[in-house]
Amino acid sequence: MRAIAFPGDDTTVIREFDDPVPGPGEVVVRVRASGMCGSDLLFRRGAIAVGTDIIQGHEPCGDVHAVGDGVTPMMARVGDRVMIHHYWGCDACPACRSGWPQMCEREPSKVMGISANGGHAPFLKVPARTLLPLPDALSYKAGAAIGCGTGTAWGGLQRLGNVAGDTIVVFGQGPVGLSGTMLASALGATVIAVDIDDNRLQRAKSFGAASTVNSRSSNVVEAIADLTGGRGAPLILETSGKANDDALAVLAPWGRACFLGLPGHIEFDVQAHYKKQWTLMTSWTMSTIEQLRCAEFIAARNLPIDDIYTHTWSLDQGVEAYEWFAQQSDGKGVFEF
Ligand SMILES: [Zn+2]
Ligand SMILES: [Zn+2]
Repeated sequence: MRAIAFPGDDTTVIREFDDPVPGPGEVVVRVRASGMCGSDLLFRRGAIAVGTDIIQGHEPCGDVHAVGDGVTPMMARVGDRVMIHHYWGCDACPACRSGWPQMCEREPSKVMGISANGGHAPFLKVPARTLLPLPDALSYKAGAAIGCGTGTAWGGLQRLGNVAGDTIVVFGQGPVGLSGTMLASALGATVIAVDIDDNRLQRAKSFGAASTVNSRSSNVVEAIADLTGGRGAPLILETSGKANDDALAVLAPWGRACFLGLPGHIEFDVQAHYKKQWTLMTSWTMSTIEQLRCAEFIAARNLPIDDIYTHTWSLDQGVEAYEWFAQQSDGKGVFEF
């Protein structure tokens, strides 16, 4: 089969790989959609060395195509529509057993696109325990987005706790930020969407933002003060990796802020801020269980998750697709099969 790989020199190759065969405990998934994620560009650039032996794509979704020995019908049956949690670990330690295999305590976890083959291919072999059911109401590309970008936004909101009835500022309206805007609105928060691009802000409105602030053409601190009666925002989700100072500048007393945008850098003077009673936290993607809960939440509320994508590509367009993705700061693409 043909699949997409990154030599690590800012190029993309489509090369031949062996068709995967499931071993004990494994399944082969017929990939139907495989999303493009911002972190793919780190691997493409070689900032994280991967090489051409690894198939890219860590947002796959599809149908079970074949099952290996020991995979019971309770675990997977041929034809099941499935999402995939794109990491796996020892499956025995407390982190793995609590649904966080990416934080495995006993061995480096396998990560699709880095240390295990990913979904930019017609077929994908994974341990059966990585599978999660794709709700009937969701498309394959919805399941793909939930597998990383949208699930990451959900994970950050879960870290923040109850957001209903409060104002949240979502910094950055790329795929993760837009997902955060959509999910936080549906969870009952009043969303102020911040970005430097008016097109993205326009999209944020269609995903539920109550108001928007262009932080390039206006003073974001003053704008958010105006929108919050001078109190500042009680909740922050920072997805851009670039607005950390702005985030702290608009955070109200007793505020909670979650930082998940990379690279990101935060420094602050405790003496100047300790009376604000802040809670500052980081977040890394989501657990297996929260990936499923995110999908069920989106399905139950019929949220417009498919609209997260601006571009659809075929696998043969992989070189062109990643040239587009590397150039533009806008939009999200998906390979469909
Ligand atoms: Zn990702
Ligand atoms: Zn483990």
